[in-house]
Order: sequence, then structure tokens, then C-alpha cells
Amino acid sequence: MSELIKRHNQVYAPVIGFDTRVEAAEAEGAWITDHEGERYLDFATGISVTNVGHRHPHVVAAVEDQLRKFWHAGGSFRYESMIRAAERIVDVTPEGIDKLFFMNSGAEAVEASVKMARYVTGRQGVIVFRGGFHGRTMGSVTFTTSKSKYRAHYHPLLPSVFVVPFPHPFHWGMTEDQAIDFCLGEIERTFRHVVTPGEVAAFLVEPMQGEGGYYPAGQRFLQRLRDIADEHGILLIHDEVQTGFGRTGDWFTSQVYRVTPDVLVLGKAIANGLPLSAVAARSELLDAWPAGSHGTTFGGNPVSCAAAAATVDVLTDLIPNVNKLSEHAFSRFHELQSAHPTIGDVRGLGLMIGVELVNADGKPDPDAYKHVRQYGLDNGLLILNCGPDGNIIRFIPPLIVSTEELDLGIDIIAAALRSYEQR
Ligand code: PLP
Repeated sequence: MSELIKRHNQVYAPVIGFDTRVEAAEAEGAWITDHEGERYLDFATGISVTNVGHRHPHVVAAVEDQLRKFWHAGGSFRYESMIRAAERIVDVTPEGIDKLFFMNSGAEAVEASVKMARYVTGRQGVIVFRGGFHGRTMGSVTFTTSKSKYRAHYHPLLPSVFVVPFPHPFHWGMTEDQAIDFCLGEIERTFRHVVTPGEVAAFLVEPMQGEGGYYPAGQRFLQRLRDIADEHGILLIHDEVQTGFGRTGDWFTSQVYRVTPDVLVLGKAIANGLPLSAVAARSELLDAWPAGSHGTTFGGNPVSCAAAAATVDVLTDLIPNVNKLSEHAFSRFHELQSAHPTIGDVRGLGLMIGVELVNADGKPDPDAYKHVRQYGLDNGLLILNCGPDGNIIRFIPPLIVSTEELDLGIDIIAAALRSYEQR
């Protein structure tokens, strides 16, 4: 055991898990280097955070500039970096989403969005989607149903939160259309048997489920949610904490699907790794939530905001390239799928790709994922998994990745699968 891990075990609570034993010493672009000088291609991106790569020079310059001025304001005064970041972000959000406020983490922003929805609609009900992930705080874990383990031992959770299914066609052995029809029917049945639509403040949905298994919602499903929300005066909240900032091929997945929510929750890649999150919405909603009804000490930190505005600058040049990289990655994974029975499904949008590993019976194979992850570590590739069974490769390279780096990562996964199938 390394000295650092021994020290970690002495002082650091085990509840916070780590996926690898890698000890990061420095990082640049798509690469992380450990204390021994071993280099790893970072296709984990800190869970879809470092979208413009580690230490992008434009972001570094913005952070250094702000650090020389001041780095905390805590509710006392307004400042340029906060307003500039807000302007840059609302510039790229879907039409009509024209105001925002900043928080620190995804979970906190999710909770704030639901507080706002309850306040402005005067309704209590929240409809969430099975397999969704929205965070770990007491409120956000109530909305999280990606794994029952995340909720175990914390009951009672928040009342008036209703869970309906999200289309999981591969797991259910259905076509996308069949899965969508089933889920839409369940919403109607929930309104008939469980809660009237007039009591529901919001639908809280990821346009592509992340932690729950990299399932895209499908355009028809998301559009129908928009229509049902409009019919009943329910707010549509898109949690784009993981899917935002270029990850799925446009600024936000709402734009990929051409479905504009009432509220957009943002986090993770927003400042490329400095802690920041945001709730963006139509201004009439945010204007109906009076000052002091919510608050924060650190939200909108000046340095994080400087990083966020610079990240948007960099993404403006990167996003037009994401779909080309995505097509390349998908075609390579589809080739691998025809050669490797271990790959049951390849799905996703942009550079957010789930590669589902299955056994000979077509059932989830978490051992296959563990093998690929270890083979990757031994050969210089960092990846993560997702899904309740831990058998789905969560393929999320940084958006600055070159085609050569993309191929290198996929070649390592291919070699790992060959060695798994020949064992
Ligand atoms: N929402 C989604 C869709 C996420 O993927 C996550 C984190 O993975 C969160 C919310 C919670 O974000 P945080 O970990 O910053 O609280």
C-alpha cells in the first residue's frame, strides 16, 4: 500500500469512495500523470467535468487574473466575473431561458430548482423518473433512483415525490417506441391513481440518464413530457448537470432534442472543475421568487465564475467538432460490438456513450467491466462505469480529445475485451 493511501486511510472517511488507486500528481489536456510518472488517458473527466481538458490555458489565465483581484464576495457585493459568467451562459441556453443564479454543486442546484418550482406554482408534488440521478443530499437523494443503495438507511425521505419509469428499451427487451409508450402510459396512470396533475409542481428529468445507465430519453418522450407539462401547468425541469456544456453534441441536450424546459439545472462542466452550479429558467419564473427565499454563501464564487465564462469561450470553438468525434467513436464501438459478444448495447449522444457489457445470457456482466477497467489502468486508460449493475462503460472523453487519443482509448478497450473473452 502506498504512503499516500495509508495516510488517506488514517484521516479520510471511507464513505467517500474512489474508483482507482491512482494518485494524481498533475494533469494536462486529456492526460493525468501519477507520482511515478505513469500517464493515464483520462476518459473519466472527473465524471464529465473537465470537458475542455485539464488546465486549459484560457481557463488558467482567467482564474489567475481573478485570483489576483479577490476570491470571495459572499452575498455582500456584485462583481464582473459573476455577471459575465451569467451572460455567457444564458447566451447559450435554449431560447427563453434568460436568467440564472449560481450555487456550488449539482445536488444543491437540483434542490434549489425544486424549491423554486414549489414556491412559484404553489404545488407540492414532484414527478421523477426511475433510474434518475440528481445528487446525494437529503432532498436530492429523494429524487435519485439510479440505485436503491443510495437511498438505503436514509428514510423517511421527502414526501410528495412520485417515481415513474424512464424508457430503458435495452433492459426491457423493447423497441424505443414501445418503451416510450409504456412510460407515457404510466404517467397517465399515475395521474389517475396516485396524484392529480393539478398537485404537481414539476417533472424533474435528465434528458439522457447518466449515472442510471446512459439512456437517452428519446425526442418523442421528452417532447410529450413538455406537452403534458403545458396541459397541466406543471414545470419541466431538465437536469443537465451531466449532459450539459457540449457533452451530447450541442450546448445542452435540450437543444439536441429541440425541447425547451422551463428550468435548466447546470453543474459539473460549467467551470471545468472549479465548484459551481446554476439554476437557469424563464425570467418570469425567477422573478416570481422574491429575494431572500433562497440563499448561499459560496454560490457564484468569483474564481469559479471567471473559470465558467472562460470555459464557455473555449467550448464555443469545440462544440462544432463534437458530432464528428462522436460519429467516429460510435462507428468504432459498433464495429467492436459485432466482434465481441460481451458488448450487448452501445447507446448515447455526442461524447456521452454507454457501452453495456453482458454475459452469454445477455444479462449484465459487472465482472467484464471490472476486467476492462483494470486492463485500462494497466495500460494507461481511466474509465468509469454507470448503471445499477456496474456493467456499463461510461465513455466520456474530454471534448478536446484528438481522433488519435480517441482511437487509443478505444483500442485499449478492444484489447481488454479480447483478453476477457479469451480468459
Ligand atoms: N444531477 C446529475 C444528472 C448528476 O449526474 C449529478 C452528479 O453526478 C448531480 C445531479 C449531482 O451533482 P453533484 O455531485 O455536483 O452534487
